[in-house]
Amino acid sequence: NNNLRNLIIGAEQKIPLSDGTDVTAINFDNAATTPILYSVLKEINQFAPWYSSVHRGAGYKSKVSSDIYEQSRDVVQSFVNSDKERDIVIFTKNTTESINMLSFVLSQQKSHQKVILSTCMEHAANDLPWRNKFKVDYVEIDSLGRLSIEDLENKLIRYRGNVKLVSVTGASNVTGYLNPIHKIAAIAHKYDAKILVDGAQMVPHTSVDMKGFDTLEHIDYLAFSSHKMYAPFGSGVLIGPKRDFEEGNPFVQGGGAIRLVTPRHVEWDEPAGKDEAGTPNIMGVVALTAAIKTLQSVGMDNIYKIEKALYDYAISRMKNIPGIKFYSDPFKEDTISVIPFNLEGVYHHILPLILSGEAGIAVRNGFFCTHPYCERLLGLSEEDLNHYLEEDDDLFPGMVRASFGFYNNYKEIDKFLSILRKLAENKEYYINKYSNDLSLNQIK
Ligand code: PMP
Repeated sequence: NNNLRNLIIGAEQKIPLSDGTDVTAINFDNAATTPILYSVLKEINQFAPWYSSVHRGAGYKSKVSSDIYEQSRDVVQSFVNSDKERDIVIFTKNTTESINMLSFVLSQQKSHQKVILSTCMEHAANDLPWRNKFKVDYVEIDSLGRLSIEDLENKLIRYRGNVKLVSVTGASNVTGYLNPIHKIAAIAHKYDAKILVDGAQMVPHTSVDMKGFDTLEHIDYLAFSSHKMYAPFGSGVLIGPKRDFEEGNPFVQGGGAIRLVTPRHVEWDEPAGKDEAGTPNIMGVVALTAAIKTLQSVGMDNIYKIEKALYDYAISRMKNIPGIKFYSDPFKEDTISVIPFNLEGVYHHILPLILSGEAGIAVRNGFFCTHPYCERLLGLSEEDLNHYLEEDDDLFPGMVRASFGFYNNYKEIDKFLSILRKLAENKEYYINKYSNDLSLNQIK
């Protein structure tokens, strides 16, 4: 896939190893942030001479900037097949801000529905914003971390029409599982609840169709971040029905969100302007649009297939390394390329140091901001967790996560496997070599 690799800035970047020699960096931490595309940089360069304030100035460049900004909403909607009659695209800072915004907006609606059904597998971004505004209940998972559709339906029945929203991740940032979002949508709608899909991990790795096959299956709200889909940090998206954003106050208040302000009264603008107070991040939106166009030209179904083949290749070989423990069902079909694992006898904090120092490979470890899910997958009780919080010098448990992008290749995975094999055979040597770099008891 050399052609695909050529799309990526820094794919051949040299970095130093622990012995001082240089090696080409290998990024297996795509679930945290993906690298930037050349097409994104090119588009930003082309746009830069036209850079000007959005919606404020009457100058020519300001009009060009505003037009590009507005057209970007259309590109985003087509990318995820959102209903252009019904939905709006709100540009935000990231998924976290999108979900906080939605929680604020929904909390203002006058309704008897006070329950949010979240799931046991959510990132903190799709858990904490709901907690202080609604009654939150988790849909259960099974022993391999897969969402229980049966429990979802049971809970919807038990709450008798009082569930406002089922809030579920499209793909897990820990296990990679793709949830059956249209099936979940159909069940939620049957019980008069809506559905939010946290698309941070799903949108960059598989095709998304908000409309679904029929109205029961449609996705009401979708949130995602540019920095996980080959554009830089700082911009994100919230999509949902325009009607829902017309009532109440906006989450962030200030210029740009208003039609008229008197000393006593505020007349808010129409959504999406109402929800984008302050000067918007036009460069971030231009970058996101460019990234979407490139991903579309590669094809989201191709991206899914390429990454799944890398995943299957890595899993089938990791399985044969003595002491590897997976924290997901490694044979699940509906999954993006995220592998949570540990190597017995090697602390999860030190393994990334070894992979980086020996071969320039980047992975992440810890709880991945998805604490309740990791606690469950690791089998930790509340008592265990309290113990670790109190004992500063104990090693806090966690796991290691390798996550692939479409530009990664088999040679990189072979390198990763060869370090794991060497490590499995000679743990003491590598642990001693890197133990000085280790900082204890961090939870991430
Ligand atoms: N949801 C999921 C599933 C994620 O993986 C992440 C990022 N790790 C987020 C939400 C939050 O994204 P951001 O930090 O861009 O707001």
